Amino acid sequence: MNSIQNKTIVVTGASKGIGKGVAKIFSDQGGKVMIVARSEDEGRRAVEELNRSGGTAEFFRADVTVKTELDRMAQYTVQCFGGIDVLCCNAGVFPSAALGDMTEAQWDTVIDVNLKGMFLTVSACLPYLKQSKAGRIVLTSSITGPHTGYPGWSHYGATKSGMLGFMRTAAIELACDGITINAVLPGNIITEGLQGLGDDYLKTMAASIPLKRLGTPQDIGYAMAFLASEEAGFITGQTLVVDGGQILPESIEALNA
Ligand code: NAP
Repeated sequence: MNSIQNKTIVVTGASKGIGKGVAKIFSDQGGKVMIVARSEDEGRRAVEELNRSGGTAEFFRADVTVKTELDRMAQYTVQCFGGIDVLCCNAGVFPSAALGDMTEAQWDTVIDVNLKGMFLTVSACLPYLKQSKAGRIVLTSSITGPHTGYPGWSHYGATKSGMLGFMRTAAIELACDGITINAVLPGNIITEGLQGLGDDYLKTMAASIPLKRLGTPQDIGYAMAFLASEEAGFITGQTLVVDGGQILPESIEALNA
């Protein structure tokens, strides 16, 4: 497949972690990548790395909870690259808070970044995606929420399931413009954000995955690049779990059999 070549791809939350890996895969396929995040230093470093390895990348500092910043980001992308073909809504946060202790402010932050941020980003890019010959939206959801639960992440799981509810109606609405929207559901992927949860968490998670390793940002990048390709043009409103088989075992015995 080489249909990513010369396409313009916006990746939110691409200054590090999964988004940075996704940006690298698109760049390696010949795509022009707009990296979006709040941290100017990390974002510009990510751009330099891509450009040093032969890619074409730019950075725009934006908070996905702020509509005006996203509108400017979309305009800047068109100014730099001439349009927007692919949008990867990936920016997200996963602070832990148990029910009973969770404050309204903690709930609101996770909903704002993960769910409202996705809506605002799609809205900002939509006029340009409509002008693309093969507009694509790929969402970073999660296994947490749609398939599994984890203590401390009730707000997070609600956002990751909510993204899929949004996607299914958006898929119908956007079909008349030839735009597809799909979601990748990562399992446990080794990123700065996940490392922040500690070694014990990482070890327990690796042991609970049939393929016996955590995923890499590149594993998610390949799945996203497929869904963004022209070859995936008849797939819309669908989910792709990329988790090393983590959601499959029905019991510990099944995992260790
Ligand atoms: P990460 O390492 O913490 O990276 C998060 C990225 O999102 C950073 O680039 C961060 O940049 C950006 N970001 C956060 N809040 C933002 C905001 N308000 N506006 C703009 N950018 C923002 O996290 P990750 O592990 O790569 O996770 C990325 C996505 O994958 C999230 O949606 C997460 O829910 C999902 N996911 C991750 C895993 C996993 O195992 N790692 C599993 C399932 C799903 P700034 O801080 O500079 O803004």
